[in-house]
Amino acid sequence: QAGVVIVGAGQAGLSAAAELRKRKYEGPVTLIGDEPALPYQRPPLSKAYLSGEMALERLWLKPEAWFAKADVSLRKNTRIKAIDRSASAVLTDDGSRIAYDHLILATGGQARRLPLPGADLPGVYVLRNLAEADQLSEHMSRLKHLVIVGAGYIGLEVAASARKRGIDVTVIEAAERPMARTASPLLGGWFGAIHRGYGVDVRVSSCVDSITGGDFATGVRLTDGKTIEADAVLIAAGLELETSLAEAAGLTVDDGICVDGQARTGDPNIYAAGDAARFYSKRYDRHLRLESVQNAIEQGKAAAQSILGIEAEYDPVPWFWSDQYELKLQIAGLIEGADTMIRRGDPEEGCFSLFHLREGRLVACEAVNCGPEYMAAQRMIAAGATPDPERLRDLSVAMRDFLS
Ligand code: FAD
Repeated sequence: QAGVVIVGAGQAGLSAAAELRKRKYEGPVTLIGDEPALPYQRPPLSKAYLSGEMALERLWLKPEAWFAKADVSLRKNTRIKAIDRSASAVLTDDGSRIAYDHLILATGGQARRLPLPGADLPGVYVLRNLAEADQLSEHMSRLKHLVIVGAGYIGLEVAASARKRGIDVTVIEAAERPMARTASPLLGGWFGAIHRGYGVDVRVSSCVDSITGGDFATGVRLTDGKTIEADAVLIAAGLELETSLAEAAGLTVDDGICVDGQARTGDPNIYAAGDAARFYSKRYDRHLRLESVQNAIEQGKAAAQSILGIEAEYDPVPWFWSDQYELKLQIAGLIEGADTMIRRGDPEEGCFSLFHLREGRLVACEAVNCGPEYMAAQRMIAAGATPDPERLRDLSVAMRDFLS
């Protein structure tokens, strides 16, 4: 028996391996990853780990001893370069073959590098993995000024972590507000103001033309001709998916490895999960590709369950969080298509929620330091609730009252 081979030892791959064992799968489980470390959580790389408030050991998803105990064979530093579907085997970069009965692709991706002049200079960083976080962190210990290109979650989280370490920060964003792709205009604008309040120079509607410097990055030049001097530049421009293996093997890839609600690709023995997988959601009646811990964990489990013949549809209400300074942002649902926004609480007080409705139905909630609102909203969205907007706005109505 060749068992289950999982390519990608990140959040989704580890979740699939753990689920197989939890559900008493008895065959071999091989978890293959090209990174040198134990499987780890990525969220702290831009938050507590980068600001120096979290030790390395706390990043591990499982302690080293777990792998032996669970009989999961972890192969670190091993890159898979091809899938031989006709022989049901994967090929490692040192030329060996590993056979599989079932294969799970959980390959995530790398940080996108922008094709800018100067982008290869020393002092230009990206942030997706532990090695990149360590390089950036090491340089941060002697940095005065960091320029961050991109005001998405990772860019803003790094801005907050850098401010905690006393570094001057400039954030350059091409869109007209931070977090424009994922958050509502009110929330994005509010976070921009918060960062300015902490001394970050947030420049929106601003495009980087090139990275300046000779032997080392010395800043950025904007398309309007202005230059900003800095000792280091972080490019925080999103994710480049790792789907090349799947594509070369002839699997369907379209903004992610295409899978159904059971994490199955078109090949009955191959599954995909996590950031690199795009699945069909009945709930939203369209394909979704989510980049979140929740999705990696749950879709990894779904792949394992499919292999075990457990019929369960993976179709979540998406959720996500971001920590910046003392603020915990939690988002449930998807904002797209919403026609009404209800505000509960006062942004001035740093604790408020934005409820987004579509034709009266709650579809999303953005909550800042508001756990009860977020928790209730998750359940209400899943249940298709149609709350009375006036009551939702009214702080004297407890959130639990919407659940009964
Ligand atoms: P990954 O974690 O990327 O794992 C894929 C692994 O596969 C990698 O180790 C990769 O090197 C390896 N691999 C790829 N190809 C091969 C190959 N051919 N052979 C061998 N190995 C291969 N999400 C949240 O919900 N909340 C947050 O606050 C949050 N913050 C984040 C902060 C940062 C800095 C980052 C980078 C991400 C954050 N995320 C957050 C996103 C979350 O971490 C990802 O959605 C999650 O890690 C995806 O898991 P994955 O297993 O799909 O991919």
